[in-house]
Amino acid sequence: MSDLIIVGGGIIGLSTAREAAIRGLSVTLLERGRPGREASWAAAGMLSPLAEASADGPFLDFALASLRRYRSWVAAIEEESGRTVEYRESGKLRLALSARERGLLEQRREWAATRGLHARWFEPAELREKEPGLSLSVQGALLIEEDFRVDNRRLSEALVEAAREAGVRIQSGVEVEAIEHRGGRILGVRTAEGDSISGDRVLIAAGAWSGALQGLPRPIAVTPVRGQMLALGTEGPFSERVLESEEVYLIPRDDGRLLVGATVEEVGFEPGITAAGIRSLLEGALRLVPGLGSAPIVEFWSGFRPGTPDGHPILGPSPEVDGLFWATGHFRNGILLAPLTAVVLAAAIVGGDGPRIPEAFAADRPALASIPEPSG
Ligand SMILES: Cc1cc2nc3c(=O)[nH]c(=O)nc-3n(C[C@H](O)[C@H](O)[C@H](O)COP(=O)(O)OP(=O)(O)OC[C@H]3O[C@@H](n4cnc5c(N)ncnc54)[C@H](O)[C@@H]3O)c2cc1C
Repeated sequence: MSDLIIVGGGIIGLSTAREAAIRGLSVTLLERGRPGREASWAAAGMLSPLAEASADGPFLDFALASLRRYRSWVAAIEEESGRTVEYRESGKLRLALSARERGLLEQRREWAATRGLHARWFEPAELREKEPGLSLSVQGALLIEEDFRVDNRRLSEALVEAAREAGVRIQSGVEVEAIEHRGGRILGVRTAEGDSISGDRVLIAAGAWSGALQGLPRPIAVTPVRGQMLALGTEGPFSERVLESEEVYLIPRDDGRLLVGATVEEVGFEPGITAAGIRSLLEGALRLVPGLGSAPIVEFWSGFRPGTPDGHPILGPSPEVDGLFWATGHFRNGILLAPLTAVVLAAAIVGGDGPRIPEAFAADRPALASIPEPSG
């Protein structure tokens, strides 16, 4: 019997498993496929609090606090795993292609300053000195310094090693079918093979699939939001920074690939790549950097972000069942939010001091109320 069973081996399950094991719990993580191969693999790896937030509030506070932890968190994972994860504090250029976008970015610059963040405007001439490949139609850009990036695939693989190193028992190829509880107390989980695995506590970290488990004490409003991406092959070094417009973002990788992302589509769990999706990504990329027209497409893929009605994650204890916890619904920002999610969840599960989970992320918040009846 484990102190803690974690359902789902994406970046959220893996990082929380590692953190809980470091704090002394015996942890079993159950993953139906291979760990880190769903949304956490499909992601772009941007760590972008300011670009992702629309206003001051709990999301921006949490995202900034998670970003501040990133450097030391990654250093620890690299050491524990013996792997590198291509973490770069390189900043992002938010590009304006019209006077309207320029105005919006100016407002964002002023907002950043009120938060003590560093955002600087570049006029077109200065910008093209820094980024010579940019289209002449770019009318300036905001450089956001507190915007970092990581290779999420390498990070996922390193986290598997780091979690094992911390003592987590990772069981791949085990699908959890149901949560088992009685009299308001968690008992464990039941697998698709019909085995019951008992545990003192259970954490649901099953990403976009978190609401599909049977036996949930309440329906949970997590829905899949598909994102398609592709990678171009570039010769020689591309910009160190992430380039982003309203349509697309371009992210360099050390191996010469340039990631282009991403569509945002509510099509249920419909897998795959579409002509329209790829066309929108390529058109957006070429509008920013026309010279990419001759670059080969080296990869394309899609994944399911775990969306919620208000865009906030769902974190913390279940109000109905003692010993049941949630860590899901990270939507577009699970890579960014992983370090702090792991710490607040481990503190909630183990007890003791530590940063608290914002009330705005609670499983019983009113914004999650209008959802279908639970299955099972
Ligand atoms: C195209 C795209 C681009 C993105 N870009 C960024 C970005 O730049 N920055 C950022 O911060 N975030 C980004 N995201 C979002 C980020 O990928 C997610 O928020 C994050 O990966 C969620 O992690 P997770 O562990 O909750 O989910 P997942 O990585 O999906 O992991 C869930 C795991 O649970 C397993 N599972 C599900 N059901 C069961 C079951 N019943 N039994 C056992 N195992 C189960 C799955 O197999 C899976 O491995 C992007 C997402 C996409 C799709």
